[in-house]
Amino acid sequence: MNDLGRWAVHTATTKPWDLETAIRKYAEAGVAGISVWKEALEGRDPKAAGAAIRAAGLKAVSLVRGGFFPAPDPETRAARIRDNERLIRGAAELGAPLLVLVCGAHPKVRIAEARDHVRSGLEAILPLAGKEGVRLAVEPLHPMYAGDRSVINTLKEANDLCEGVGSPSMCVAVDVYHVWWDPELEAQIARAGRIGTLAAFHVCDWKTPLEDMLEDRGLMGEGCIDIPRIRGWVEKAGFRGFAEVEIFSRRFWAMDQDEYLGLIRKAFQEHV
Ligand code: ZN
Repeated sequence: MNDLGRWAVHTATTKPWDLETAIRKYAEAGVAGISVWKEALEGRDPKAAGAAIRAAGLKAVSLVRGGFFPAPDPETRAARIRDNERLIRGAAELGAPLLVLVCGAHPKVRIAEARDHVRSGLEAILPLAGKEGVRLAVEPLHPMYAGDRSVINTLKEANDLCEGVGSPSMCVAVDVYHVWWDPELEAQIARAGRIGTLAAFHVCDWKTPLEDMLEDRGLMGEGCIDIPRIRGWVEKAGFRGFAEVEIFSRRFWAMDQDEYLGLIRKAFQEHV
């Protein structure tokens, strides 16, 4: 994508940098938006962090990530709801319009029940989200994570969940890493545009072989995802927001992060 005005980066992409360094380096490199991971906010006042982001000329795109609703016992589920409520307030203080949700899964909770936990968890936090003006972006995760990270695995399920709950505070995040393989992707992106749920677009690439399920994401252009095609669908559906670079990679975290951000910029321009 040649429009760097739509270039955003997740702080987890450059994990070795603390939030202050990321803000400064992103601004210097021409990044326009920043999605802040909750770990990057630890020990900081979200209001002050939001002010620093705006002062650097960046826009806070989202706070990442809440969710993780399913658990075998009701006490843990209640604690997760309180965690999510803290995150909603944090997103509002940061000035981020979105809280991205990894809905959760638990190996000791059967999948149908876990999906009920997700829905009831969402319903519990929606009133606060509405009050704070923060939308909850359900990010479907690749089915390889259905046992321990998320029981919401396709964009259809995420759209169904939004429609089923029926709140304007619900939306979806399309992350190419999780949904690129789905034969229904084009239709579900179009549907998200129609029903008003399309709120975020995350990019990286899928390497083969994948050396680690979580921390071996590729830089755009390194793998097999047809990112420009998916971006075309997202734009056709009316999305005009940021393309957010979200890469977890031990390989890239081990390298010089200034050099890495340069590679990201080039890959964003050539392969998004
Ligand atoms: Zn994502």
